[in-house]
Amino acid sequence: MFDENGEFLGYCGIASDITAQIEAERNMETLASAIEQLSDLFALWGPDDRLLLCNQRFREINQPVIEFSKPGIRFEDHIRAALDAGLYTDAKGREDEWFEERMERHRNPSGLFEMARQDGIWILLNEQRLPNGATVTISSDITEVKQSQAKAQEQANIVETSMRAMPDGMLILDDDLEFVSWNDQLFEILGLNADLIVGSESPAKTFRYMMAQRGEYGTGDIDSLVAEHEATLRHSEAVIRERQLSNGRWVEIRNYPIPTGGYVYIIRDFTEQHQVARMKDEFISTVSHELRTPMTSILGSIGLIAGGTFGELQPQAGDLLRIANDNGQRLLTLINDLLDVEKLASGNMDYRMERIGIGELLSDAMDANKGYAEQFDVNLVLRESDIDAEIYGDKARLLQVMANLISNAVKYSSAETDVDISPERIGDKVRISVIDRGEGIPLEYHAQVFEKFTQADSSNTRQVGGTGLGLSICKAIVEHHGGNIAFESEPGVGSTFYFELDTNGTAD
Ligand code: ADP
Repeated sequence: MFDENGEFLGYCGIASDITAQIEAERNMETLASAIEQLSDLFALWGPDDRLLLCNQRFREINQPVIEFSKPGIRFEDHIRAALDAGLYTDAKGREDEWFEERMERHRNPSGLFEMARQDGIWILLNEQRLPNGATVTISSDITEVKQSQAKAQEQANIVETSMRAMPDGMLILDDDLEFVSWNDQLFEILGLNADLIVGSESPAKTFRYMMAQRGEYGTGDIDSLVAEHEATLRHSEAVIRERQLSNGRWVEIRNYPIPTGGYVYIIRDFTEQHQVARMKDEFISTVSHELRTPMTSILGSIGLIAGGTFGELQPQAGDLLRIANDNGQRLLTLINDLLDVEKLASGNMDYRMERIGIGELLSDAMDANKGYAEQFDVNLVLRESDIDAEIYGDKARLLQVMANLISNAVKYSSAETDVDISPERIGDKVRISVIDRGEGIPLEYHAQVFEKFTQADSSNTRQVGGTGLGLSICKAIVEHHGGNIAFESEPGVGSTFYFELDTNGTAD
């Protein structure tokens, strides 16, 4: 301080407390370094629209235009530079339009939007205007989300294309049984007009009511039929069934529950195969009928000649007649089996049901098959038991089952072994087992034993004879009696075939 004449008087000091300012500056530094470290992109544009603050991620993604990504640069110049450098993938081919849209959005920021960047990167931008006129842009990387969306879309495209390409009809339902997806083939096979359904409020409901009205779900009150049908649609296991539609087509319907909820339906039209199969069955049935009559008279004539009715035969002629007779018998068995199969398939098999004592059934079976067993030098043994149970059934058909099981057991046994016939009572049921010590059935063949025309080893079967039809006929007959048939077999040890019938049984 000086006086009026300029003389030095002394010093005077003023101090002010700037702790708060220093702290604020430090806080700002902390904040800036936190922003710098963010994995998300951050940019702050001042009220004059120049870059005030940005972080590492912002610089990284704008590396190719780093000169235009520094504080002080105008927003518009930054965007223009990045656009010219091709950093906005979704702007390709419509750069000017894109630029206008981007500027418009920046002028009126309204929150979130997605942006495709270079190298397949996708970001979700959040642009907000601050009260002082500055604009803050924060973005997060959504590349992974976008990639999984693209993958899901790709898979949806594959499913949709497969559905369009497949010959079968296909329908996907959600958990509430509403339509999710379907193909044209579905409507084509069902003979429904898709346009009538698709525009409606609930295509699924409209569809079911149309089906119910056409009589596909049976007869009765339409509402209850639809409700019942909907109940059957909810199932936890795959279901496969065949049926004829009211338009005459035969379809196989496969319903699969989707593990994450909903159901898939596949409808295959097999009308043509069905017709061919019917023609085949009719053909076999006609031919077999036509063959049986002459065959019976051939065998009758052979029998008479072989029996010496017309005089003594030369030994050679006798041998030849025996061969003719054996082969004729085989042919007749085949013809009878084929006719049985046809009758079973068409439901035309006659059953004469009556009460039958088990003892009587078994002793008749013994008598009928003893001679056959002797030819193979096999002992047929009826295991004594005091079963006096009765069953309800067709005796001739049950004897046919026994004859099949016994002849198989004998055929596949070695000479001088036993084949046992053993009855056993199990609760309300009686089980009849035919036990052999023969070659057994190879494991890989077990699943098909009861199917038509199947034989475990065709080379061997050629030696022992057989059609591969016997067991399928047995199964159909036993099941018609409400019973079941099964077997246990160990290769090299032997086989046990058995069937069980209800002792109080009545036929279905
Ligand atoms: P087939 O007329 O050929 O005997 P089946 O339907 O009666 O026809 O039997 C089917 C096949 O099951 C036979 O060809 C044979 O391979 C096998 N099989 C049936 N019973 C026995 C058995 N007791 N021991 C071994 N294999 C058997």
